[in-house]
Amino acid sequence: MITKDAGATRIGSFSGSSDAFAGFADARHWIGGSWHDPISSREVAEVLNPRFGRAIARVHHGGADDVEAAVQAATPAARSWGEWPVRERAQVLYRLRELMVARIDELSWLVSHENGKIFPEAKAEVEKAIECLEYGCSLPNLAAGNQLEVSRGVACEVVYEPLGVVAGVTPFNFPLMVPMWMLPQALVGGNAFILKPSERVPLSSLRLAEMLEEAGLPSGVFNVVQGGRPVVEALCDHPGIKAVGFVGSTAVAKQVYARSSSHGKRALCLGGAKNHLIVVPDADLELTAENVVASFTGCAGQRCMAASVLLAVGDVDHILEAIRARAAKIVVGKDLGPVTTAAARARIVGYIDGAERDGVKVSVDGRSASAEAGGFWVGPTILEGCEPSMKAACDEIFGPVLSVIRVPTLDRALEIENANPYGNASSVYTSSGDIARRVMERVDAGMCGVNIGVPVPREPFGFGGWNDSCFGHGNITGWDGYRFWTRQRKITSKWALQRDQTWMS
Ligand code: NAD
Repeated sequence: MITKDAGATRIGSFSGSSDAFAGFADARHWIGGSWHDPISSREVAEVLNPRFGRAIARVHHGGADDVEAAVQAATPAARSWGEWPVRERAQVLYRLRELMVARIDELSWLVSHENGKIFPEAKAEVEKAIECLEYGCSLPNLAAGNQLEVSRGVACEVVYEPLGVVAGVTPFNFPLMVPMWMLPQALVGGNAFILKPSERVPLSSLRLAEMLEEAGLPSGVFNVVQGGRPVVEALCDHPGIKAVGFVGSTAVAKQVYARSSSHGKRALCLGGAKNHLIVVPDADLELTAENVVASFTGCAGQRCMAASVLLAVGDVDHILEAIRARAAKIVVGKDLGPVTTAAARARIVGYIDGAERDGVKVSVDGRSASAEAGGFWVGPTILEGCEPSMKAACDEIFGPVLSVIRVPTLDRALEIENANPYGNASSVYTSSGDIARRVMERVDAGMCGVNIGVPVPREPFGFGGWNDSCFGHGNITGWDGYRFWTRQRKITSKWALQRDQTWMS
């Protein structure tokens, strides 16, 4: 039940257990182990459940003064947490994992209500968050530093040490999973963390804060500051924050990367995407149709890994027909959730209208789809006959829309894919090993799939794209994540007296 007592909010166990509208909360900051109102009074915005377009919470936006308060709380906490042995730090995550597993339905309903995605998709998100956490639990086994006798009697070893206070900024589309791309590595690495969740989905992070406290995380090691741009800019600027992880749109990722880097911080900023699927005539009909539709409609197309452009190579009419048929069967409200806001709906519909004006055929049209009144609905939409230069084929639409471009050859398909500035994901559908291999060697994207519509590298593989989909070096999850949130001390020791003199003596 979401409760509000004496000005403080506990998210507590979420009482919603169906799509029915439930609950109301105030989303404040969680700093140093307690709830805080913003120091200065600023915007208080409604958090809408996109299924109904009705408020389930109010979020109290913070600013630079709240970031300062969070850094003040996190700095001593980071010092003592960093002294805990890595195994003991990981034990807290083990306990968090047990809590999340026990409460998986409750957490999934919370995600579903604040984000809008349907319950099975919310549950898949929580399961993936748990998988990320499990990777974090395994870190003590992986993080044993290397040691080598580099010269007679001289040993070098590597020790992974915390950075101190670090920050993460996350988007609306995965309220629990994306924070969990960063937290396990950062916390096991011995840092204190300040999270700035999307102002559209502030509740899951607060529930996480409560559960981390229950799991035994010392106060001040995990903090949540609510708000928008002013909070993010203060996180980039604050000299007490050593690293910033960001996941969101490309325009903001670029800004956050530049601003954090200009202050000498580490930054890893994942941006938007325009993912291409290449379909060739020898592709398996059923597998391809099912996968393509799941990829562009899953989470209402609001995934950075979602299919957005289908490059139809040669005669694949039979596959396109099966894709249309499957997409048309999707029940909006049951199989497909709403998009995040009324503005997002208007943007997506604007792209469809624009493509139609340019002569594109809207062969499956989701513009008039609706489930509950007041919600932000767009049904599956397929745009056929797109040209590579059209807006619908170039921009990130971030809705359940597939733009189909017909091409005569695989080379032309690769040329179009490689000309787009993003580089998050790309897949090919084929039963030919040769074609699969050619695409995997030449496609300009960081996460690639063969007969997979959403080629997410599952743990322990690292998640991260290329080009305008990622600013900074490496992946945000997996081992790269641990390296990002830690620094390596190299220790060279000589204990034995030795006769041989080398340049190291
Ligand atoms: P967004 O860029 O609008 O917001 C992301 C975060 O940045 C939020 O916390 C928001 O409050 C903050 N923010 C927004 N505008 C800002 C500004 N001008 N200055 C500083 N901070 C600002 O993204 P969104 O709409 O929440 O999420 C959707 C986007 O995220 C899509 O582009 C999607 O592709 C991308 N995304 C990428 C990945 C990935 O792994 N590459 C994963 C998930 C989502």
